[in-house]
Parts: sequence; structure tokens; C-alpha cells
Amino acid sequence: MIVLSPFSKINFQEIKKYFSIEKYLIDKNINIKFSVKQKLYYNLIRPVIPLKFRQKIQHQFCASINCRKYFINEEFVKFIYSISNVAESLEKLYPYGKKTSVILTHDIEDEIGLKSVPKIIEIEQKYGLFSSWNIVPYKYKIDEGIVKYIQETKNEIGIHGYNHDGKLYSSYNEFHKRVLKINEAIKKYGALGFRSPMMHRNLKWQQELDVIYDSSTFDYDPYQPFPGGVGYIWPFIAGKFVELPYTIPQDHTLFYELKEKNIEIWKKKIDWLIKYNGMILVLTHPDYLIENGHLKLYEELLSYLVEISNAWYCLPKDIAQWWMQKDISESEKIIQSYDYSVMA
Ligand SMILES: [Zn+2]
Repeated sequence: MIVLSPFSKINFQEIKKYFSIEKYLIDKNINIKFSVKQKLYYNLIRPVIPLKFRQKIQHQFCASINCRKYFINEEFVKFIYSISNVAESLEKLYPYGKKTSVILTHDIEDEIGLKSVPKIIEIEQKYGLFSSWNIVPYKYKIDEGIVKYIQETKNEIGIHGYNHDGKLYSSYNEFHKRVLKINEAIKKYGALGFRSPMMHRNLKWQQELDVIYDSSTFDYDPYQPFPGGVGYIWPFIAGKFVELPYTIPQDHTLFYELKEKNIEIWKKKIDWLIKYNGMILVLTHPDYLIENGHLKLYEELLSYLVEISNAWYCLPKDIAQWWMQKDISESEKIIQSYDYSVMA
């Protein structure tokens, strides 16, 4: 496994000297392992709990987590900045001399979400924005007309797991069996990217996916079933693909778990990402956006995003391709050859 820094001047050993790699650069849950309790939950309990009830429990659970710092991992980013020659590296982060990037992605949880896609695309079009739409290939009926609409409007199709039952990573055998079918779907829909349901992840196993990027990680999020974060607010190379962590909290976390009624947390995090030339990667779900007036809040987000100066508005496949073809500097090669297994 390879982790590649976006900055040319970073010395991996130097980071290690100051901070615990596991705590900062590498997500301790990057290769998740199910506990007995979690196995029980995904096999027996989750399938029989209605979504609304689940959201209620999640809200109660989340209220006990103390995270009001707008999902910011300040210490890590400041450190990266202090040891990097940012001015020199900036031109390498994004093309056309852009200082930040904005990427909209959606996971379509169910048929109702899929049906709402055209409505949301129309809203995004009003702001001149494009987005990616991750479909679950073996859960609900895929309306080929909507898939065609997504592609014809120059938006992107990605694949969101297998059937969204939470068991994709329950064992390597299970994953391997399902990945063959997932790769069939990737081919069928011409997808270039993947996101795991529930942000379960195992970047090692995921190397079997036929994609150029994965987006199953986040920079920092204590509210996920496997919490933590990669600490990165930029893309990075993870083995054969580019990893694109989401960097602002999910709509579900904000509106259902934290019960926020406005987008202040999003705005604060966005401002902070801009300060560090981070990638603003948004993850929302049409299924939740169409409920309870959330579309209005989403539109408020879009209008905030288009006001950012000098941002590169792109699709995940664009930034992944850009990242892949970027020249790798000498010091990055050192990081690239770092033995991942010693960090596990
Ligand atoms: Zn999902």
C-alpha cells in the first residue's frame, strides 16, 4: 500500500518523529475489522430496524460525542503546512493555478433517491455545477433512463457498494465474491470511481476494484460507524487508485444525527479548507435532500460554493485523473516506496 503526499517537501520520517502516524496520517480504521458486536448488528439487528428508528438511535448516540469543532483536524494540517513549502507546492495541487477544488458527490441509497436525481441536477445546473452519482448496483431497480440522463447532462456515474447491507467487508471471502459482481457493474455503467456504503473501508482489499479512484474515506469524522479519518484534506495515492476523502460532514450527519437547522458547520469547514488549499469534497444523498426542506439548505450550500474565488469546480474523475498524471517529485518517490505494513 502506498500513501503519497501532495507536497513535494514532506519527509515521511520527519512526520513520524513528531506525531504518531496512526493517529494523524493514517486512519486506524483504514482497513476495518468487524467486532463480534458489529457482526451481530449488521447480520441480525440492522435489517429489522426501520430507517426512522435507526436515525433516532443514531441521534441519541451522536449527542454523546463531543465534536463541535466543525470537523476540523487543525493540528495535523498546520503541521503539514509548517514542514512543507506550500507556495512552491501550490501550483501542483490543482490545475490552472487554482487554489482549491470543489467536488460534489451523491450516494443514491434507494429508488426514491434515484427518482429525485433530475430535480437535483436541475438545481445544480442553475449554479453551473456538475456532480457524481453513486448507484447501488444490486439493491434497487436501476432506472436506465435516469442513468442516461446523468451521463447526457455531463454528470458522472459511480458505484456505491454491492447491495448496501453493511456486510461487504465482513470477511475477505465475502468481499472477494462480491467484488467480481461490483466490477461487472463498474464496467456496465462505465464508472471510474467507487464509494463504500456506510464508509466501511479496506483500502488493501479495495485494490481489486477496477477503478481509478475511491472515495470511501474522510478527513475527520467521529460520527461514522468506523470513526476517525485519514487526516488528509487533499487527494492521495492509495495503491493503484487515487483516494478522495470527503472533507465536509455528510448531510445525514448534519441534519439527522446532529439535527442542525442551518449550514453553519458546512460554511465554517469550507472557509477553513480554503485557508489550507484543501479539497472541498461534498457528500450528500438525494434520498435525504428531498426531505424536510433540506433541498433549500443544499441550494444555500451551492450558492456559497460558487462564490469561492479561484476554485476548480470538477468531477471526482477529473481530480483523480489530474492527480494520477501529476509528476512525482523525488521526495514523493521516497514516500511512495514507504512500506505500508509497518504502519498498520
Ligand atoms: Zn449509502
